[in-house]
Amino acid sequence: MLSQNELARYGRHLTLPEFGVDGQERLKASSVLLIGAGGLGSPLGLYLAAAGVGTLGIVDGDVVEESNLQRQVLFTTVDVGKSKAERAAVRLGELNPYIVIHPYNLWLSADNALEIVAKYDLVIDGSDNFSTRYLASDACVLTGKPYVYGSIFQFEGQASVFHYNNGACYRCLFPEPPPPGAVPSCAEGGVLGVLPAMIASIQATEAIKILTGIGETLSGRLLHYDAKGMRFRELKIARNPDCPMCGDHPTITTLTDYNVVCDDVLGESKDSTVKEISAPELQALLAQNDVQLVDVREPFEREICRIDHSLAIPLATLKDQLDTLDKSKAVVCYCKGGGRSANACQELDAAGFSEVYNLRGGILGWIDQVDSSLTRY
Ligand code: ZN
Repeated sequence: MLSQNELARYGRHLTLPEFGVDGQERLKASSVLLIGAGGLGSPLGLYLAAAGVGTLGIVDGDVVEESNLQRQVLFTTVDVGKSKAERAAVRLGELNPYIVIHPYNLWLSADNALEIVAKYDLVIDGSDNFSTRYLASDACVLTGKPYVYGSIFQFEGQASVFHYNNGACYRCLFPEPPPPGAVPSCAEGGVLGVLPAMIASIQATEAIKILTGIGETLSGRLLHYDAKGMRFRELKIARNPDCPMCGDHPTITTLTDYNVVCDDVLGESKDSTVKEISAPELQALLAQNDVQLVDVREPFEREICRIDHSLAIPLATLKDQLDTLDKSKAVVCYCKGGGRSANACQELDAAGFSEVYNLRGGILGWIDQVDSSLTRY
């Protein structure tokens, strides 16, 4: 089954005890769906392709941004602005021409997830948001596929194997998604650039073990990694008989699109009770000098781009700076994509401000519709 070139390429696997030609042929015959070609997805793609997983699907609807290159090692500077899925497919095809790669330049959704997931033996999750994670995990339970989980935040990460050999699924641990706005995205919380490599290499190891049948997987265990203390901890997890997805009486039988986070990925606010204003409408208000414009982003984001005449009040400090604003005058809040500023608007509403608006689409919307001379990030 393996050609001469493949035998030469995979030599270090072929001489590896327990692995051998048999293990390599199993890898070649297997298919993996990689969800997300970002921080986790980059090393995942590189190692799975290099190892010789025969068919690799890559789902990502995003394009490469300059700020991705700090950790998304699949891409180089010339890739900025291009489709992540398509650039990943080209790069991985160059790395290993003996495998088949299917790029999906789209976002996983309740409409497409089952159809895509069903085509693969295993799903490995490199996504950075809860909406995709719940979709991927639910789709795996509904189609009977193992789900290799990983997540990262700041200096910490987690990995596990779900829905494998009667083990727990993701919802056994976290039955419901967190409420909108409760979770900061990677862009807001930051992430150490090298961190995803550690978590992804654990995930890729687990995927290869499942596909080849070697070793003992992380099923039933949640592995937690703390980069600052350089410590690993393990948490035992069991299948929950009351799990809404895989329990004795499942209550969830179809997929749902969750809009949990993150404003930076989706570029729109999530809270419909907050009044919104478009970028051109804001421009008109500013021209009349009739509005207080509040930038709730972090100082470094203001260094990249800002709307003139805006006050810098990062979301976390808003509570303490309410008296710097005039309650009788209209307030417009903005952030990068509209999520954080929606939270700010709620705070102002609760504090008794009479006229509060959220800039729809954040400063990215402003750049698209009003001032394209500003730098996107
Ligand atoms: Zn479950």
